[in-house]
Amino acid sequence: MANLDMFFKPNAIAVIGANNKELTIPYRIISNLQAYGFKGPIYPVHPKEKVVKELPAFPSILDTPGPVDLAHIILRRDLVPATIRDCAKKGVKGVVVNTSGFSETGPEGKKLEDELRDLGRSLGVRVFGPNCQGMMNTDLDHPLYSNFTFARIKPGHISILAQGGGVAEVLNSYLSEAGVGIRMYASNGNACDVSIPEILEYWDADPETHVMVLHLESFADPKAFLDVVSKIKKPILGMKSGTTPEGARAVASHTGRLMAEDTITDILFDECGVLRFRTAQELCEAAIAFANQPLPKGRKLGIVTNAGSPAILATDEAVPLGLALPDPTEKTQTLLREKLFATSSVHNPVDMMATATPENWATAVEAVVKDGTYDIVTTSFITPFFVDCEGVARELARIHRENPELPFLVCLMTNPLWEKTRKILADAGLPTYYFPESAARAAAALADMADLKARAKGKVPELKVDRDAVAKLLAAAPDGFLPAEKASEVLRLYGLPVAREKWCASADAVPAAAKEIGYPVVLKAHATALVHKTEAGAVAVNLGDEKALRAALDGMTKSIGKVDAFQVQEFVAGGTEVAVGAVRAEGLGATVMFGLGGIYIEALHDVRFGLAPLTDLGAESMIRRLKFGKLLGPFRGKPGVDQAKLRDVLLRVGRLVADHPVIAEMDLNPVLAFPDGARTRVADVRLRVAK
Ligand code: ADP
Ligand code: MG
Repeated sequence: MANLDMFFKPNAIAVIGANNKELTIPYRIISNLQAYGFKGPIYPVHPKEKVVKELPAFPSILDTPGPVDLAHIILRRDLVPATIRDCAKKGVKGVVVNTSGFSETGPEGKKLEDELRDLGRSLGVRVFGPNCQGMMNTDLDHPLYSNFTFARIKPGHISILAQGGGVAEVLNSYLSEAGVGIRMYASNGNACDVSIPEILEYWDADPETHVMVLHLESFADPKAFLDVVSKIKKPILGMKSGTTPEGARAVASHTGRLMAEDTITDILFDECGVLRFRTAQELCEAAIAFANQPLPKGRKLGIVTNAGSPAILATDEAVPLGLALPDPTEKTQTLLREKLFATSSVHNPVDMMATATPENWATAVEAVVKDGTYDIVTTSFITPFFVDCEGVARELARIHRENPELPFLVCLMTNPLWEKTRKILADAGLPTYYFPESAARAAAALADMADLKARAKGKVPELKVDRDAVAKLLAAAPDGFLPAEKASEVLRLYGLPVAREKWCASADAVPAAAKEIGYPVVLKAHATALVHKTEAGAVAVNLGDEKALRAALDGMTKSIGKVDAFQVQEFVAGGTEVAVGAVRAEGLGATVMFGLGGIYIEALHDVRFGLAPLTDLGAESMIRRLKFGKLLGPFRGKPGVDQAKLRDVLLRVGRLVADHPVIAEMDLNPVLAFPDGARTRVADVRLRVAK
C-alpha cells in the first residue's frame, strides 16, 4: 500500500505561485490552511513578493528555510516540470498540480501530463492531479484544508473521493451541512499518478473512516482498480458519471478520458463490491446511514411511526428494493396492544398516532428493537406541537445507544422550530432524513452492502473443452466476422449446444440437407454483407415440408443477391429466447453478457455483464439479477427454464473468450432455453476476430 501521508498528513506545505490577490487559487489555499488550523509551516513561493498573507514568501522552493513534504503548484503549465525538479531537490515528497491545461484539453495536453507523471516517478515525487482541487483532513491531530474552495467542514466518518471538484464539493457541502461531517476529502482531477484505488486503499487503513464515497469520471486503469479495490474492506458507495452518450461527451471534455461503456462500471463496481448509485442525492443519503450505523444482518425492516401516511410512503419505497416488512411477533403485538392507545396499529408499520408520548415511543421502539424479527429499524416521526418532541428524541437516542448493533434510521419530518430535537438525534449518531422514501432507500442500501460483503465469489469450474482446436481455427482466421459455419464449430468445440445444422454451398443441396435434419426445419441464407438476416428476409422458420422449403428457398434466391452458404437447421419450437454475448473491454479483458433475447433485448435492454472466466456463482447471479428475470419463469402457468443449463452456457462462453483473447466480440442470439435443459439450443451465432 502506498503511503500517502505527505498528502493527507503533511508537516510543511509550500504554495508555489502564491500571490496577494484575494480571489486566487493560491491565496485561497493559504487562507484555508490557516483558517482550518494547519499545524506546520506554510511557505508561499513567489519570484518577487516578500510577504504573502502575512507569511514570509520565498523566490524558490529551494530557498524555503525548513523541510517541506508537500507543495501545491499553481503556475503556467509549461513551468510545472522545472518546478517539480526543484521540489525533488528540496526533498518534497508530493506535489499537488492545481494547474489545468493537461489531458482534459486534448492530445497535446495529454502528452505533457504523461511527461509530468514520468518525471515525478523518475524523481521520486508523487503527483496529485493535475487539474484538481486538493485534499482535506478533519483529523484533529492533522487538520488540513489544502484546497481552494469555500466550504465549511466538520469532522465525521465519511471520506469523499471525487475526481471532479464540482461533485466533490456538492457531496462535501451536503454532508457537512447535514451535520454528519467528513473524515478526509480528495479531488484529484486527471489523476495522472496518485490514483483513485491508491487513495481508497489508504483510507481503508484509516480507523476513523467508516465509509468511502467515490465519484468517478473515468477508470484510468480498470485492471488496477479491480486488483486493489476488490481487496478493500470498508464499504464504498460509488457513482460514475457519463452514463449517457451526452453525459459521456461532457466527461470527455473535462477529464480528457472517455470510458466508452457504462457497463464496465457495472462490472468493476460489482466485482469490487462497490455499491453503485445513480444520483448524488441517493449517494449522500446512503452515506449518512453508513457513517454511524452498522451493517444489518438481513433485509427485514421494522417501522415505528406517529403518522400513518409517511410510513406508507416508506413501505412502498422499501418493498420494491427488496426489504421485507413482517409483522412483529404475537408477544410484541400483545404488549403493544396493552401499552399503546387503542387506535394504534400493532402491525408493521407500528402506528401510534400523533399524540404518542415519549413513553409510548419508548415502549413501541424498544419492543420492535427487541422483538428479534428485525434487521433494521426506522422511525417515522412528525413533531406535533402538543408532544414533548425532545423527550421522544431522547428516548430514541437512548434506545439506539443501548442497541448499537441494530441499524437505526430516523425519518424526521419537521422544520427549524424543532432544531433541538434534531440536534439530540444527531448527537446520538442517528442519521435523520426528511423524506420517508429517503430513509427507506438508505435502509435498502445498508442491506445491499451487507449482501455484497457477505457474498461468496464462487469458483471457476473445470470444463471439458477443446482449447487447442479452437486456437488453431482462430489462428487461421483473418480479422473480421468468422464465417457462421466456423463460428458454430468453435461453439461445439467448447461443448455449447448448437442447433443441429447442415451447410450447403448451393441451393441445389438444400432439400437433401433438410431431409437429413428432418422437418420442420429452418432455412437461413448467409452472406458477408448480411448482418441482420431477419431484416434481409434471409430467415425462414418452421418449414414443415419440402414444398414450404422450396418456396422459401426460391424467395431467398430471388431477393438476396450473392449467398455464400445456406444453413438448414432443426426448428427448435417453443423455447424462451435469451441472449448470451461476449465483448473485450479495453484494459479489462473479456466480459460476458447475459440478457433476455429476441425482441426483448432491444426493447428492455435488460442485460448483465460479468468478467470472464465466470465463476459458478458469478454466472448464477447474472441470471438471477436480471430485472425482468421473472420472464424466465415459472411465470403465469409457464414452467421456468432450466437455469443450471443456462449457467453452463454462460460458463462455457466465459471460458471460450478468456482462453482466446483474439475474440473481440461474440453474440449468441437467440439461445433457446427450456424447462428441460437438454433441449437448450444456440440458434444463431456471430463471432468477430481482431488480432
Ligand atoms: P438474425 O439474428 O440474423 O436476424 P437469427 O438466426 O437469429 O437471425 O433468426 C431470427 C429469429 O428466428 C430468431 O431470433 C428466432 O426467433 C428464430 N429462429 C432462428 N433459428 C431458429 C431455430 N433453429 N429454431 C427456432 N427458431 C429460430
Ligand atoms: Mg439472431
